[in-house]
Amino acid sequence: MHDIVILGGGSGGYATALRASQLGLSVVLIEQDKLGGTCLHRGCIPTKALLHAAEVADTAREGESFGVHSTFNGIDMTKVNSYKDGVINRLYKGLQGLVASRAITYVEGSGRLVAPNTVEVNGERYEGRNIVLATGSYARSLPGLDIAGLVMTSDQALQLDYVPTSVIILGGGVIGVEFASVWRSFGVDVTVIEGLPTLVPAEDASVSKAMERAFRKRGINFKTGVRFQSADQDDSGVNVTLETGETLRADLLLVAVGRGPRTQGLGYEEQGIAMDRGFVLTNERLATNVPSVFAVGDIVPGLQLAHRGFQQGIFVAEEIAGLAPLTIDETGIPRVTYSEPEIASIGYTEAQAKEKFGEVESYEYNLGGNGKSQILGTAGFIKLVRQKNGPVVGVHMIGSRVGELVGEAQLVYNWEASPEDVTPLIHAHPTQNEAFGEAFLALAGKPLHAHA
Ligand SMILES: Cc1cc2nc3c(=O)[nH]c(=O)nc-3n(C[C@H](O)[C@H](O)[C@H](O)COP(=O)(O)OP(=O)(O)OC[C@H]3O[C@@H](n4cnc5c(N)ncnc54)[C@H](O)[C@@H]3O)c2cc1C
Repeated sequence: MHDIVILGGGSGGYATALRASQLGLSVVLIEQDKLGGTCLHRGCIPTKALLHAAEVADTAREGESFGVHSTFNGIDMTKVNSYKDGVINRLYKGLQGLVASRAITYVEGSGRLVAPNTVEVNGERYEGRNIVLATGSYARSLPGLDIAGLVMTSDQALQLDYVPTSVIILGGGVIGVEFASVWRSFGVDVTVIEGLPTLVPAEDASVSKAMERAFRKRGINFKTGVRFQSADQDDSGVNVTLETGETLRADLLLVAVGRGPRTQGLGYEEQGIAMDRGFVLTNERLATNVPSVFAVGDIVPGLQLAHRGFQQGIFVAEEIAGLAPLTIDETGIPRVTYSEPEIASIGYTEAQAKEKFGEVESYEYNLGGNGKSQILGTAGFIKLVRQKNGPVVGVHMIGSRVGELVGEAQLVYNWEASPEDVTPLIHAHPTQNEAFGEAFLALAGKPLHAHA
């Protein structure tokens, strides 16, 4: 009997294993594919490598405006992919080494929950005093839309060995706009279709609007508030029909309409685990209704982000070890979209904050007044939302590289700091981070490089 048997070796599962082994618990980690899961092999890391290559392409294209002779001569996808795969492989080796260096029994194979405390893999049974379900997610499609050939999800799009001439992207959420951004930088004619009224609809309304403005400027086409009806493909492309009757054609169609929980056929229902539309239900301590069975990561309803999975894994390991860790505040999880421009946010949008707290104040510091942003040639803003005379309850940013600023936003939000708490702390000049300091100063009633 082991202390913990973990099903799934992605962000949530391996974080549980690493922390549990640190705490002296005996751990079995079961993975059917590659340690590291979606994030490392088919998600965060490969997409961010492509986005970096895209940034390099843009830099080459824009060199002349900085007085640097450079020209953009095209993309060699074989080399882009070998750069991307090199990054993945180095991280993969590092992670394998880390797991191997701990007292973790790593089992390769497809597991199934056959009793509340037992997982079966390749005919062998692993019993745990505790079970952690961490089987992750898969790319969803729409009814009647088969993923095949030129109709693909992010899984296939990350393996493309050519740059298409044109693409249609179904879904204007995080994954959709990240791919739109990469392909546009690679010279592709891109059209994004989003059923909701705006791109990145989960973000603060001001950010969604700024994103649409930026995409328009970049020549990325998008249609919002319009639903997909059907698609058919031939040898050379895909025809997409919208509910309005409009038809579009492109070399390929990327379906980026969200991710579903990978929980079917794994024995969860049979063992009595409460589920909702395939997601595993837990309480705030990540325990399911079945004693000693926990769940972490994308199978638990909420934000599907790798760092949420890491934190949930740490939490569950500490919970099992009896350390009574603090529960995770879902609104305190930072969210970054790594497109050009980037979006980063935490806490409540202004509309949500009004609904929750009643009176709120907000301030938008325009990056036009920020020296480093001017140097980089980026537009955008940092918007702070605070409870009237109270703490900051939302931070919303858009502009090149603002993802790197989310660390401070995260501390301010989670420590419930008010602008007055933060203004005595000094921000280095000239950094983009300084724009934060300016926004805090303004909200505290003493703007420096901004009009009152
Ligand atoms: C294109 C894309 C880009 C993304 N970018 C980001 C980003 O920039 N930042 C971010 O935070 N998040 C990003 N994400 C989301 C992130 O990848 C997920 O939130 C994260 O991987 C979830 O971790 P997980 O452990 O729940 O699941 P997964 O990473 O999916 O891991 C689950 C693992 O379980 C294994 N498994 C499943 N069933 C079984 C079984 N029966 N037996 C054995 N093993 C099994 C799978 O093989 C898999 O390895 C992105 C996702 C995608 C698709």
